Amino acid sequence: MARIPYIDTEECMACGSCAETCPDVFAMNEEMGFAVVVNPYGASEDEIQEAIDMCPAQCIHWKTE
Ligand code: SF4
Repeated sequence: MARIPYIDTEECMACGSCAETCPDVFAMNEEMGFAVVVNPYGASEDEIQEAIDMCPAQCIHWKTE
């Protein structure tokens, strides 16, 4: 089963770090003021984990599809 990332948007501080680390996976929704997952398969799990580890709000999590 694949693991895919999701963002707890209520906790997101819209810092942009995840979109910078994995631009094919995460993008900023400037209007709404939080980040969104645009393609959960846009990077390797290691790269996504790096974005998770760097998130200052610790609001990116794994879920099993
Ligand atoms: S790194 Fe975390 S706090 Fe920053 S934009 Fe991404 S989800 Fe939001």
